[in-house]
Amino acid sequence: MVVQQISPVNCPNCKAQFTAPIQNIINGQDLAAKSAFLQGRFNTVQCPQCGYTGAPSTPLYYFDLEKELALVFVPSQLGLLGNDQQKIIGDLTNRVIKSLPTEQQKFFLFNPKSFLTLDGMIKAILEADGITEDMIKAQEAHIKLIEEFFKAPDEATLKKQIKAHDAELDRQFFEILTAYMQTAQMAGDQQRTQAFLTMRTLAARWSSNGKKIVAEIDQELGLVMLENQEELLKRLQTAKNDAEFEQLVAAGHAFLDYGFFVQITGKIDEATKNGDTKTAASLTSLRERILQTKSRQEEASKAALEKAGKILEEILKSDRPDKVIDKHLDSLTDAFFFVLEMNIEEATKQGHTEAAQAMQMIGNIAVSKLQQKHGPPQQSTGEQPTQAPSPAAADDTPKIHIARR
Ligand SMILES: [Zn+2]
Repeated sequence: MVVQQISPVNCPNCKAQFTAPIQNIINGQDLAAKSAFLQGRFNTVQCPQCGYTGAPSTPLYYFDLEKELALVFVPSQLGLLGNDQQKIIGDLTNRVIKSLPTEQQKFFLFNPKSFLTLDGMIKAILEADGITEDMIKAQEAHIKLIEEFFKAPDEATLKKQIKAHDAELDRQFFEILTAYMQTAQMAGDQQRTQAFLTMRTLAARWSSNGKKIVAEIDQELGLVMLENQEELLKRLQTAKNDAEFEQLVAAGHAFLDYGFFVQITGKIDEATKNGDTKTAASLTSLRERILQTKSRQEEASKAALEKAGKILEEILKSDRPDKVIDKHLDSLTDAFFFVLEMNIEEATKQGHTEAAQAMQMIGNIAVSKLQQKHGPPQQSTGEQPTQAPSPAAADDTPKIHIARR
């Protein structure tokens, strides 16, 4: 049920008074509303006079039946005295109760905890999600540092800044940077993904512990970061075992194009010409192994993408996407996020902003549920989207084909 009222609003910028549809009640189980509120996008209105955009100060009642939360905020800017405040809280409480079926009219809803600041209310909501104030503070400091680094006018300055903050570049710092990178990639934003990857690479290179921490994070998340074809070839040649080889082929999928194989063939011809039969034989078998692995992965990835597409469809059609996500949580692999990313990109391109936002939300919910269950999301986010769908080989003979970009 949408609880929305046309209310008078005072523009904080030009003081003009106008009316706008304002919601005073947030159901914490409505994840779109919850995330809009936590990100400061709830009740955003634009002043018709001066164009200022923001959320007006308004009384808010936040409740979450699952977490048994009932919180209320009456902004002090409204200048209300005790009795009037109590009346507003009472009115909001009644509206919440009336909006719910009898069996959901729980006792705690009648006695909401009141907050003097919006910040305090947001902290209480995050705390109920298991995010403490200390965690928030440490995270805020790291985010500020990342923002500062991005403002550096050139690499020399950045290097100086990174060295000056060496002690702060800890595990959490690199985890946040990695999460930004993954979020950007999930949103299909290649430019931002690349920017965060570059920042992470430089911060790792110029800090004392960065390289080791980044290697640990990538190993735990199953991330393989490849700079170019040369690096991929070198790492394939020195792969310690089958698992590493498989992972490199998957992460380097976009690099394994026609040019890559032409390059290997050139090296084989050269070795043969020089009478180096050992190198020629080893490169030939490497080429064969790469082709076979790639072709097998493409088959598997095609099947995984089909399955992911079906899950996404089921989520999109449901009234309770969160429940469907719960049901399929174990099947939400990187194929799912890849399909989601492609769909978001497509919806954005077509101008279906709401559909794109809804899918973005589904991605956020899925990631947060996976994080609750396993820790950080298990996606192999390479520099390029891994295992892009490619035409599968029609017969058993491995074929060289150019990777679709
Ligand atoms: Zn204004």
